[in-house]
Amino acid sequence: MARFVEVLAGDLVILSLLSRLSLRVPNTSCYTVQMTRRDLLLLAANAYGVNFAYGMLEDMGLLIKPEPTDLDSLSGQTVKKATVLILGAGIAGMCAAYELEQLGYSCVLLEARHRTGGRCYSIRRGNTVEESGQKQVCEFEHGAFFNPGPTRVPYWHITVDYCKKFRVALAPWVNVNEGAYVFQTAGKMKGQKIRLRDAIADTTGYMAELVAKSVKADQVDVALTDADKTQMLTYISRFGFLDRDGKYRGKGRRSFKTYAGAGPADSEFDAPYDIKDLFEAGMGNYFHFIDANDQQSTMLEIVGGVDNLAKAFQRNIASPIHFGCEVSDIKNLRFGRRCRL
Ligand SMILES: Cc1cc2nc3c(=O)[nH]c(=O)nc-3n(C[C@H](O)[C@H](O)[C@H](O)COP(=O)(O)OP(=O)(O)OC[C@H]3O[C@@H](n4cnc5c(N)ncnc54)[C@H](O)[C@@H]3O)c2cc1C
Repeated sequence: MARFVEVLAGDLVILSLLSRLSLRVPNTSCYTVQMTRRDLLLLAANAYGVNFAYGMLEDMGLLIKPEPTDLDSLSGQTVKKATVLILGAGIAGMCAAYELEQLGYSCVLLEARHRTGGRCYSIRRGNTVEESGQKQVCEFEHGAFFNPGPTRVPYWHITVDYCKKFRVALAPWVNVNEGAYVFQTAGKMKGQKIRLRDAIADTTGYMAELVAKSVKADQVDVALTDADKTQMLTYISRFGFLDRDGKYRGKGRRSFKTYAGAGPADSEFDAPYDIKDLFEAGMGNYFHFIDANDQQSTMLEIVGGVDNLAKAFQRNIASPIHFGCEVSDIKNLRFGRRCRL
């Protein structure tokens, strides 16, 4: 039996139930791919990124963006008596409740699940996780946890302000491990176990060597004085760990093959990878990730699990949260909106 709740203003989160899809591969009689819309969206997100998947959600009519002009003003001045209905007690919903409470509003949160936090969640011993039709019960040691969704917080992010406000402890998060191995799926390096540090050292080294050659040969389309060139070559050769003759030979930034320590022998290094193989494999295409403005050092994590932030929000809001309330429909009325549960 459907229940109705009438409200004057409210946030809008609509996720429709996904029904099963059956896709047939054209021109074949023997291959039928059974997949849910969720599988399809996951495939799209993996292949083309989350933005593409969001676009698909919109095209499929599953993601409805509310028009900002359609919302009542929530400045705290005009509709003080209104109760704000918030759909979803994820971080956004609880943050909205917290801020609206500061402005003097009362809120009611309707949450489909039986917990707060939404994607801001940590899996701990005893938790049951159901994804893509599979049910797993977590058997971690007591105290161990896994954040399946958000983990990293940029140091400048508003999340840090809320952590400070609610006394949620933060710790530095190591966002890159150059000692880790990577492998590529194309080119001559396909399937090879390659240390990330060596891939970065060789790619930047070769690039620096090429730029240094161009600067020396006046092949750059910027007018440079001799002093400019000297400065630029100093920078490039330090950036790429080039030899005195401007060549990259795979030392300085690469990992040691043998480390000489204080002894008389020199440390040894493996020969650098071939420049063409590196670029054919697209090895350098992801190095920029940790330089993006939302991934730069120092990244932070929430100590003890990201769900500690969700719990802190929950503790700091007075508004009631109704669990197990999945909203299936929202109707615009002449005065306010109506939600169907
Ligand atoms: C794998 C992954 C990694 C990520 N990593 C990071 C990261 O490192 N750093 C970072 O800052 N961000 C990260 N994000 C993004 C971050 O998780 C989200 O931006 C954030 O959690 C979104 O919060 P939200 O409250 O808007 O949505 P959600 O967390 O999705 O919350 C929505 C809530 O609404 C409820 N709900 C849904 N439909 C209904 C309905 N019909 N009726 C009632 N309730 C409903 C849900 O149960 C849920 O509780 C990551 C996301 C993912 C998936």
